Amino acid sequence: MKLQVGDLEIWILETGYFRLDGGAMFGLIPRTLWSQKLAPDEQNRIPLGLRTLLVKGPGYTAIVDAGMGSKWGAGGPKNFDLSVRPWSEILAPTGVSPQDVDHVIATHLHFDHVGGLTEFSEDGTSLRPVFERAEHWVSQRNWDFARDPGPRESASYRSENWEPWARSGQLRLVDIALSGDPQPLLPGLWAEASDGHTLGQMIVHLRSGRSEGNVVFCADLLPTQYHIKETWGMGFDLQPQVLLQEKRRFLESAARHDWGLILEHDPTRALIRVEKTNSESRGGNIQIRPDGGHL
Ligand SMILES: [Zn+2]
Repeated sequence: MKLQVGDLEIWILETGYFRLDGGAMFGLIPRTLWSQKLAPDEQNRIPLGLRTLLVKGPGYTAIVDAGMGSKWGAGGPKNFDLSVRPWSEILAPTGVSPQDVDHVIATHLHFDHVGGLTEFSEDGTSLRPVFERAEHWVSQRNWDFARDPGPRESASYRSENWEPWARSGQLRLVDIALSGDPQPLLPGLWAEASDGHTLGQMIVHLRSGRSEGNVVFCADLLPTQYHIKETWGMGFDLQPQVLLQEKRRFLESAARHDWGLILEHDPTRALIRVEKTNSESRGGNIQIRPDGGHL
């Protein structure tokens, strides 16, 4: 899917698909409810997408997140039923090759967001950066946390996904205040900080210069369309109560400004828009716009 926001050209691209335990994806929510939305297989796994963005802005080409990548064995780690496409195929509709990418924005360093940033060398003995020329932007808080995450998140933060490009001088750390206000990284490309899912996640805003018509790459603040309900968070979330407050504030803004919300992990839907409902229910007062929300 291709979008135009101001002078930004944006492609939403599928890097592949995988499956994760449905209970882990929906935290508090009973299986009887979430299984009506996404049917689990015999191993209780639900299908999930792995999307990346390619952004062509004034004078730059950027990637936002990179999926899980292809350096896993068959089926991926822990039997995730992973299928990943090679970068040449993922980027084909854009006319861009990995060598053309100047900037990589890593929303956070969980393996399903940055696994695709490193690959095996031809002889298979070492790992190298996929985007050899690109600066890789990571928030300082997420970088610090990723390298010492503690037992709860140590399986998700794997240094083979960042060491090759950090070692080659391609790491660009950025301090983003937890104010709720996005700050600019590149022309038209802004990031706000979110600490609920993990520390220092960056939510990427693509802006036209007007308050309306912008789009936001929601990463794990809102991984699928079903997570717009207030209490539908992931079991993985580090600070569920913080996430709930961040999500409420974010979705209010999204409804008010008519943002297009890009969903990284939704298996079927890449983009939604939301609106406020009149009644406050237990799931919050935000719903997906019934017109389909296409831009
Ligand atoms: Zn994550």
